[in-house]
Amino acid sequence: MLKNLILVLNCGSSSVKFAVLNPINKKKYLFGLVERLYISRSMITWNTKEIRNQLVIGDNLSHEKAFHFIINKIFNCEKSLFSRILAVGHRVVHGGMSLKESVIINDFVIQEIKKNIIFSPLHNPINLLGIEASLKYFPHLSKKNVAVLDTAFYHTLPESSYLYAIPYNLYSKYGIRRYGAHGISHFYVSQQASNILNIQFQGLNVISCHLGSGSSVTVIKNGKCMDTSMGLTPLEGLVMGTRSGDIDPAIIFFMNKEIGMSLIDIEDILINQSGILGLTDGITSDFRYIENNYDTDTISQRAVNIFCHRLAKYISAYTSLLDGRLDAIIFTGGIGENSTLVREIIISRLSIFGMKINNELNRSTRFGKSGFINKRNTIPILVIPTNEELIIAQETIKLFN
Ligand code: ADP
Repeated sequence: MLKNLILVLNCGSSSVKFAVLNPINKKKYLFGLVERLYISRSMITWNTKEIRNQLVIGDNLSHEKAFHFIINKIFNCEKSLFSRILAVGHRVVHGGMSLKESVIINDFVIQEIKKNIIFSPLHNPINLLGIEASLKYFPHLSKKNVAVLDTAFYHTLPESSYLYAIPYNLYSKYGIRRYGAHGISHFYVSQQASNILNIQFQGLNVISCHLGSGSSVTVIKNGKCMDTSMGLTPLEGLVMGTRSGDIDPAIIFFMNKEIGMSLIDIEDILINQSGILGLTDGITSDFRYIENNYDTDTISQRAVNIFCHRLAKYISAYTSLLDGRLDAIIFTGGIGENSTLVREIIISRLSIFGMKINNELNRSTRFGKSGFINKRNTIPILVIPTNEELIIAQETIKLFN
């Protein structure tokens, strides 16, 4: 039996994405998503042999229960597929200073991922749950788990981008610097853009916007990251579903000293109660809601406008790092791939750079469709559905060749 398939586990705070694929010919044999973990109506969707299955599997499902369901209900029905798995690739959000590239998971690597929980408290613990599940359910693959790091793509950042203007020893002694996140997604879509535009990756200048529950924007010059909006942790930068993104750090002192909030409460507010959720006064963190109500509801308008204002500001600033040549702007992630409204607002704000949207293309390029959404003869604006699973599988197989 030829073992040439990779199982990919991409565990987020409220979802588990899984896929079994051949990284060489890119064929997907099985892929799925468990979502709405820890809330009502936890749901699983999976696709095998052209068949799409969907089930509500109860309320408040935990990650552990989600793995149990995936392995006992789905994997057990696909035994022949599972005997062909060569290795398991895991998305790991934060590799810190020590994990700079994809690596086979051993005790040392697990310890390092644990150490970096301080930099990614929302994600690294969940990524570890995926690794533990893999070790438990696939003991025969215990030496064949690979961590593919979201921070790895950012190790080319120049000092002018990764250093904060705080005492230097906070960087040299404690590793306080910009690490970025979403690197796997930005790498995938910029590679795709290089193919679509027929420009070698090493010469490609793009600004990539990954807009989802977490959002970030990255500027890539000659195939290397020059700057990115996420920082020491995935809290900095754009307005997100529940994360504030950029704020004046003095707000934290104010909340602590003047309002009497504890640091733990402030952290919870900035990570879990801010962003779109905060701006809508707790109504929703879901972008679909504010997009659908944009025309009639001032609260939704406020949230969309602040989201777009911040993003347009970043994109404009990042053009200054490209020595006068921008090959494309890329939109990806749940919002980037689907929100015609965000794309329209952003591109209209960037008309100073000669960008113009094509409304018809904007409307038709959604729901997994890839393509240009601008008028000809202006800077290309591309929508490219992300495929983090493929990059994770390709990185994983590289370590066993
Ligand atoms: P994650 O970061 O969890 O992987 P996604 O990339 O799936 O998240 O993005 C989730 C976000 O995308 C949510 O805010 C959701 O509302 C938004 N989204 C999904 N579909 C649409 C759509 N059709 N229009 C606007 N926003 C959408």
